[in-house]
Amino acid sequence: MTSLSDLPIRDDLRGRTPYGAPQKVVPVALNVNENTHPVPEDVAADIVARVAAAIGGVNRYPDREFTELRTAFAGYLGHGLTAENIWAANGSNEVLQHILQAFGGPGRSLLGFAPTYSMYPLLASGTGTDWIAARRDAGFELSPETAAEQIARLDPDIVILCSPNNPTGTPLSLATIEAAYDAARGIVIVDEAYAEFMPEGEPSALTLLPGRPRLLISRTMSKAFAFAGARVGYLAADPAVVDALRLVRLPYHLSAITQAAALGALAHADEMLAMVGEIRSQRDRLVSELARLGYTPHRSGSNFVLFGNVADPHAVFEALLERGILIRDVGIPNHLRVTAGTEAETTAFLEGLAALGRPAPVDAERTSNPAPVNSQS
Ligand code: PMP
Repeated sequence: MTSLSDLPIRDDLRGRTPYGAPQKVVPVALNVNENTHPVPEDVAADIVARVAAAIGGVNRYPDREFTELRTAFAGYLGHGLTAENIWAANGSNEVLQHILQAFGGPGRSLLGFAPTYSMYPLLASGTGTDWIAARRDAGFELSPETAAEQIARLDPDIVILCSPNNPTGTPLSLATIEAAYDAARGIVIVDEAYAEFMPEGEPSALTLLPGRPRLLISRTMSKAFAFAGARVGYLAADPAVVDALRLVRLPYHLSAITQAAALGALAHADEMLAMVGEIRSQRDRLVSELARLGYTPHRSGSNFVLFGNVADPHAVFEALLERGILIRDVGIPNHLRVTAGTEAETTAFLEGLAALGRPAPVDAERTSNPAPVNSQS
């Protein structure tokens, strides 16, 4: 048996750990920020019919430019966008990888504000890009000044802003995004994977696109659209950015089956997104109930809540798992993260946690602004 260290693997990949959120079969899975509501039956039937029709043509390569899908995404996003502004790939992770392949690479750097999404440093290392973990303000907030000062000082080639941020749930103000853009000399990505869960009427970074050719907004169908298993992510940016991404994608990277399924889901966007309001209210319920139980939830514009005042996160994680409830230990001291599920799942979590007893206060110093770490979700 050969071990990994015996192989002539790239030096910069030695000792790295792959992405590895646990995939356990449990009654209540609230660990990877999925939408726990299934696709409505009538929508599923239409998607199946479209996929069946696509199968009839799979002897041929699919539309390499996925023009119909790009047009549909532009229609969904609005803001005057057209197909030329849109890119898509197998999950927004692949969209981000395309961006790093085109704009990052050896000798270049990617800066993010930790704690943030664990795939950013992994995507950086996979593309030979240096990862720079910048810091946040207290309570995981990020002011325009804090963002701009570090970008100006650390001078990265690419900045990635996650809004709302995983794993903290923190939304960014447009003022912070504008300040980051003005301070950066290169590409600025806003990862809006959870944008649909923001309070209604809250503006998206899409409103900032006109006149900002270095601004890229990535989105996904994995969360609000309840389409994580289909693997569809997309991006809105200046058409020149799309031209750059075309240089690094593999030919025909979006299968005919994926394109058909995504088009089906988008054709029923209203029904697919029907549960977003309910998920938001379970999220808000988590915030108020966690506080009532003696924990310190952070404000969230997403479909999950990070909460502190957990003396021993590993012990609480295990105790809940014993009851069939899977949440996430994201490696932030004294914190755990939980996804807002259906009403019944959220109740199961809150009751399971309450059964563990009221937590004693944990030293606030350690929980308010811990050292940068990254989460996996
Ligand atoms: N961005 C963020 C912030 C995420 O949390 C995730 C998934 N957990 C993704 C991107 C990637 O999602 P996908 O590849 O399924 O679109």
